[in-house]
Amino acid sequence: MFCPECGSILRPKDKGGKRILFCSCGYTKVPDEEMSAELKETVIPQKKIEVIEKVEIHPKIKIECSKCKNKVAYYWTQQTRGADEPETRFFKCTKCNYTWREYS
Ligand SMILES: [Zn+2]
Ligand SMILES: [Zn+2]
Repeated sequence: MFCPECGSILRPKDKGGKRILFCSCGYTKVPDEEMSAELKETVIPQKKIEVIEKVEIHPKIKIECSKCKNKVAYYWTQQTRGADEPETRFFKCTKCNYTWREYS
């Protein structure tokens, strides 16, 4: 690297812990690499929170289970085949987990 003032070769020199380039004419320069290195920061990208398990909670209704005679069951509907087909109603006993269906 040469001095932009007089064209002489710049010489490295330590000044206050920092390495600078200096010339006999009095010109000094802080090397670009040193400056950019100081400004560098490690950026850690934040991890996205992933949904591992989606727990579906069905509404509970009063209906008697044919197996254990429990009177509460989860209730949901599902379109089984085509859109012209009627919805199928599903029931799941909250006690014995027995699941049954009923056509509307
Ligand atoms: Zn110079
Ligand atoms: Zn049951």
